[in-house]
Amino acid sequence: MSQQADDFKKLTAHAKEYGFIYQSSEIYDGLSAVYDYGPNGSELKNNIKEYWWKAMVQMHDNIVGIDAAIFMHPKTWKASGHVDAFNDPLVDNKDSKRRYRADQLIEDAIDKLTEKAEKEIEKAKKRFGGSFDEKLYRDTNPRVSGYLQRAADITHRMNAALGAGDMEALKALIEELEIADPETGSKNWTDVRQFNLMFFTQLGNIAGEEGKLYLRPETAQGIFVNFLNVQKTTRQRLPFGIAQIGKAFRNEIVARQFIFRMREFEQMEMQFFIKPGTQQEWFNYWKQYRLKWHLALGTPAGKLRYHEHENLAHYADAAVDIEFEFPFGFKELEGIHSRTDFDLTSHQKLSGKKMQYFDPEMNESYVPYVVETSIGCDRMFLALLSNALVEEVVGDDEGNTRDVLKLHPALAPVKCAVLPLKRNEEPLVKKAKDIFNQLKLSFPTQYDDTGSIGKLYRRQDAIGTPYCVTVDFESLDNDTVTLRERDSMAQERVPIDKVEEIVRKKVDMRQLFE
Ligand code: ATP
Repeated sequence: MSQQADDFKKLTAHAKEYGFIYQSSEIYDGLSAVYDYGPNGSELKNNIKEYWWKAMVQMHDNIVGIDAAIFMHPKTWKASGHVDAFNDPLVDNKDSKRRYRADQLIEDAIDKLTEKAEKEIEKAKKRFGGSFDEKLYRDTNPRVSGYLQRAADITHRMNAALGAGDMEALKALIEELEIADPETGSKNWTDVRQFNLMFFTQLGNIAGEEGKLYLRPETAQGIFVNFLNVQKTTRQRLPFGIAQIGKAFRNEIVARQFIFRMREFEQMEMQFFIKPGTQQEWFNYWKQYRLKWHLALGTPAGKLRYHEHENLAHYADAAVDIEFEFPFGFKELEGIHSRTDFDLTSHQKLSGKKMQYFDPEMNESYVPYVVETSIGCDRMFLALLSNALVEEVVGDDEGNTRDVLKLHPALAPVKCAVLPLKRNEEPLVKKAKDIFNQLKLSFPTQYDDTGSIGKLYRRQDAIGTPYCVTVDFESLDNDTVTLRERDSMAQERVPIDKVEEIVRKKVDMRQLFE
């Protein structure tokens, strides 16, 4: 197993062991690509949502929030294009009966070509040492440039086929690249066909197609259909935004990579309504603002990058992804899309209701343009967890390691743990419980006396608790405790009545906005 695969396995095991994420319905062997959040997971997820909401709604006096229903009138999805075009290219292997996304199989083959080129470059680097000119080698070594050119050519042809909805061209690429089923090696494929990703259900009182309801595949449409309601009731003027956090559902063909690709997940989306013609300016604004949001959490800049779309969705005139380096490589974490007036115009046409804004400065009405930012809360969770989980050698003793979750303190599920040095000493336990009962009024705090102090510290490190308060015999004499900081493991003697202030400062979300 590669180091990366190993790290990822460790991460998923850690997430379960410490109450972050469980497989849904595990006692029935689980439901694929559906997950439940445990006690620490739900705290962390709530904190991510709070950080997003504050950054988008509280920090912008021209952004307001809503909470729309998951079920919407079925015409919504006709207007948005999801009924006709929210498809992924599906291919079945006739021997193994396994299903795959044709574009993902081709992407994996492209990755293999680039890996081959990178391996050649690594080898050459070692051979030539300090005098190695990587750029020159990339451009002139026939084997390397051959691999890279082929990768670029296949990417281009795949994007063109996806853009044109040309399933035969995708099948031809699978054959040309001699792609085999990753599980069994069989190359016996069906034709590639479009598969709609929306889940549906039926209204109780209407039979047939008429009563067919979809589980929303994105939260954005709840915002578009409410655009006028919100604009009128809040009397916002353009430019202004509507934000929403909520569940979305997609019948993903291949569910893999843990909570990266789920069938039920949560989105945090904001649609920013603007004057036509200003979309480039706002697109740039939101592109930068959203990257800053990620960086403020301490995520290293090298783990985040922009990926401009070559292949634009039917509704967009510009699109960029913020990608994060997950344990399985750089992948989309968030999308920023300039959606033009596509959605509002489509709803206007299909509903027959005007979706226009009266611009008092121009003294005219028009359909606003929209720039949206859209991030999966679960994907963000995975990004944070994979960035934060570190195995560290403690002290000089090489054999002694700890797993520590170096989450930003403002997002940590538990902010402080109160630990009596000995659990059978009544005065210590009482003092510790008194401190705990005070601190829990201010932030999520845990009391724990179920092990030796070393073990208790490790447990708190593993869930990312920024501070531990240890109550010992000295505490009984002079009302001081030991405050231990998670990352440095530094211990400091502080008066009990100062603990709340120190911890509060450290975990305050305000520092993320300063
Ligand atoms: P992908 O290409 O990975 O399928 P997408 O481009 O379809 O994603 P969008 O429709 O732009 O994704 O959705 C916005 C965000 O919602 C994504 O950036 C991602 O964070 C999140 N998201 C989308 N699909 C899923 C999913 N199946 N599971 C978890 N999060 C998802």
